[in-house]
Amino acid sequence: MIRIRFPAGAEVPAFLVEERRGVAVTADPAVLAAEGEKNGATQLSGVDRVLRPLFEAMWSRSPRMFHLVSVETRSGCNYECSFCPVARSVDPRPPGEMSLELLEKIVDDLVALDFTGRVALFGNNEPLLDGRLVGIVEMFRVRLPAADLRLLSNGTRATAELVTALFRAGLSTLIINNYTDGRRLTAPVRRLIDAAARLTSFDIRVSVRDRHERLTTRAGLAPNNAVPAAVPRGFCALPFTDLHIAYTGQVNLCCFDAYGRVSMGNVAVESIRDIWVSTRFAPYRQSLLRSERSPSTPCGTCDFDGFREPTLNRERPLTRSDLIAGEEPS
Ligand code: SF4
Repeated sequence: MIRIRFPAGAEVPAFLVEERRGVAVTADPAVLAAEGEKNGATQLSGVDRVLRPLFEAMWSRSPRMFHLVSVETRSGCNYECSFCPVARSVDPRPPGEMSLELLEKIVDDLVALDFTGRVALFGNNEPLLDGRLVGIVEMFRVRLPAADLRLLSNGTRATAELVTALFRAGLSTLIINNYTDGRRLTAPVRRLIDAAARLTSFDIRVSVRDRHERLTTRAGLAPNNAVPAAVPRGFCALPFTDLHIAYTGQVNLCCFDAYGRVSMGNVAVESIRDIWVSTRFAPYRQSLLRSERSPSTPCGTCDFDGFREPTLNRERPLTRSDLIAGEEPS
């Protein structure tokens, strides 16, 4: 099933208004959060009010394991979005790809942790540029049968054949950011919609986005927005829930630290578990638990609202609106 979300106010194209097998237009933020529902003053204060005390209580007992690991299998993107620090023309990182040996070592480390959370096989890159991707998905699926394996792509390389091969290899969910003017669908996405009747058993989600939008500062790296919004910015859940492994094997502070300014270690020489519980994370976590985004760190220039659902084991994932409405996360 392909579920498509348009931004508020965008007209749904006529050909999608008629019923089509395997395609649905959705407005459910639990399926896809729209940009307008994130990172505003209301969301920032909701995260600080509801999530911060929850994580403070959980982490006062003992460190919790991450529930999302992102693995950037290679560098680079083939697209240009004004807000993106790794857009094709601005990414300063040298090209490279993670070796299969290192990917296998990451899988070994996750198996040792009995990991059943989410594995995002992308980071600050376009994952479908990696010609090894079907085999990599299979490698993770075989060894981590309960993991939620996800890809986030700009969709430019997403043919029905490749998408089918990825799901047959064990992918759980493919999210496509359809970057246009925030209204039109790209040609590859239209071709997927034409093939939707053959893709009904797959979880494919398409978010229609404006590629020149002004979003967050991306921890001070967004080419079109370097200065954080002048609103209170407090707790952020990412260093408590997510482990981001760059294509070099380096673990960065979080996925917004796209160039790896803060290194927590390297999975090539340390176990994932040792990196996660190392004292290197401690000052960042302690500062965020005090609702502080320290000016000397990437957090100081970051206006991401800090939301990551505290548990993935719910039938319907927690959304920002649930937090703001005051729902107690389980
Ligand atoms: S506040 Fe800090 S940890 Fe959270 S996303 Fe921003 S830079 Fe990353």
